[in-house]
Amino acid sequence: MKASQFTLATLRQTPSDADIISAQLMLKAGLIRKLASGLYVWMPTGLRVLRQVEKIVREEMERINAQELLMPVTQPAEVWQESGRWEDYGAELLRFKDRHQRDFVLGPTHEEVITDIARGELKSYKQLPATYYQIQTKFRDEIRPRFGVMRAREFTMKDAYSFHIDKESLAKTYADFYEAYSRIFSRLGLNFRAVQADTGSIGGFASHEFHVLADSGEDDIAFSSQSDYSANVELAEAICTDVRKAPTAERTDVDTPNMPTCEEVATHLGIDLKQTVKTLIVKGSYSDDNPDMPKLVALVLRGDHTLNELKAEKLPQIKAPLEMATEDEIKEAGLIKGYISVDLASYGIFVVADRTAAVMSDFVSGANIPHKHTTGMNWDKDAKFDVVADIRNVVDGDPSPDGQGVLQIKRGIEVGHIFQLGDKYSKAMNCTVLGKEGKPVTLMMGCYGIGVSRIIAAALEQNHDDKGILWADTPNPNDNIAPFFVAVVPMKSKDGQAESKAEELYQLLKNKGVNVLLDDRDERAGVKFADLELIGIPHRIVVSERNLAEGKYEYAKRGNDDKQMLSLDEILAKF
Ligand code: ATP
Ligand code: MG
Repeated sequence: MKASQFTLATLRQTPSDADIISAQLMLKAGLIRKLASGLYVWMPTGLRVLRQVEKIVREEMERINAQELLMPVTQPAEVWQESGRWEDYGAELLRFKDRHQRDFVLGPTHEEVITDIARGELKSYKQLPATYYQIQTKFRDEIRPRFGVMRAREFTMKDAYSFHIDKESLAKTYADFYEAYSRIFSRLGLNFRAVQADTGSIGGFASHEFHVLADSGEDDIAFSSQSDYSANVELAEAICTDVRKAPTAERTDVDTPNMPTCEEVATHLGIDLKQTVKTLIVKGSYSDDNPDMPKLVALVLRGDHTLNELKAEKLPQIKAPLEMATEDEIKEAGLIKGYISVDLASYGIFVVADRTAAVMSDFVSGANIPHKHTTGMNWDKDAKFDVVADIRNVVDGDPSPDGQGVLQIKRGIEVGHIFQLGDKYSKAMNCTVLGKEGKPVTLMMGCYGIGVSRIIAAALEQNHDDKGILWADTPNPNDNIAPFFVAVVPMKSKDGQAESKAEELYQLLKNKGVNVLLDDRDERAGVKFADLELIGIPHRIVVSERNLAEGKYEYAKRGNDDKQMLSLDEILAKF
């Protein structure tokens, strides 16, 4: 490619609305342009990167015998009504009507469509297992599109679906995907981890997420210091090995004026935050159908811990999805917001103590009197809980749930997710084949997603410097996802010799199949260098009159200040 005929679209200024380094770099380096919130144009430079990622993903999908197909973005409402997700899927699902007033959606995912195809095409157990994938546009009307293409509304996903006669076959294909995903992220040169993930409301058998580690990640990942245990904090079990000590203090109300938080109380009383507890009131699962369940539930946590909503809402007494009680509900129950006590026996509230909170003694809680807390609180003596449960997020230093080492928390960007779905969709949509005994068998299903466009943003979060993008070195140079692998830059020469030699080198490299850019723009060298560094082109060869006199070319690797003088043969041997 010649830069003079290519829209590099680099910017001098950092766009003011880019909220994260990768988004800034993608805009500045001309990879993308914003069309509207969560909607981006992939510019020529960016599309080259996207296609490289797609190529690697495709190769690894073919390796595990997944078949590529392509489903429409637009999907009829009928299949969503059949699966039940027409009602269940929230506002992320964009619904619309065609000219005949028929309902449609823009696909946020394709379980329904693929299950419809599978039930039509798969007739016998002999055709199984069958795995399909596509690389395609998804639309999710995200409540908060942000971070550029990282959380966009329209984005590119590789989604795959597998169909099986039984759980064993599903587990085998799942393992293939686990390996394929690991290979994809390794080939891309990314620092990533596969972590155990929540199977959520679908209640499948197993799920793993693949995370690129970066401080800007939206997820917290817990790792063991001594084993290969790793899990999303959403899921990681909090183990409490402490035993409760005998009470030594007496229950005493103390003044804590305008101090509704544990932090304020701890500072005021000059005690460790770990000696305080907080009590959160959430809605219970009481309903006309469930009259035995509580209307309100109190969740008691140690002051320095945070609530894990996913864990809490799995308790039968708690309404799912979890909802905090309103101010009115708290008031009606006779509780003083900000000063709620753990002594709730006389309020008819179901009390859940977190495992760690349950082994505390001589602690401080609210007094349920405005501007007062109680010190010297002790379970059994001063207050009672109904159940003990793991309802908090793990923190640095917690014991690893596998009993080996302690947990360490890091931020991650979810780039892939694999899931053993079981029969959720196949059952709802009657997707069966004839089994060995000649009877219909409902298929087992797996689904597997990779955020193809998100990978690029994640890669940039991990790899950049003050000059711009640094594309990660990949174990195989052919896997490098840089838009161009080599840039050839002629310096202006009087007789045009540097320019023609540069063109010659460009043609030679091109003929060798090297992904090369000839920067033949009529620009100052400094401008060209700055652009090439911003875009992160890994290798740069400068062709100048002075060096040509000695038969040399100046070679530099992006991210490395050393320059080397190489002969033409050396350059050609290098690439
Ligand atoms: P998240 O928790 O980040 O919203 P998700 O659980 O909704 O992700 P999946 O439904 O498993 O994601 O989709 C598969 C992959 O698609 C994700 O692992 C992620 O890499 C990518 N992805 C999901 N939502 C977006 C988005 N809004 N923009 C870009 N990529 C996305
Ligand atoms: Mg999502």
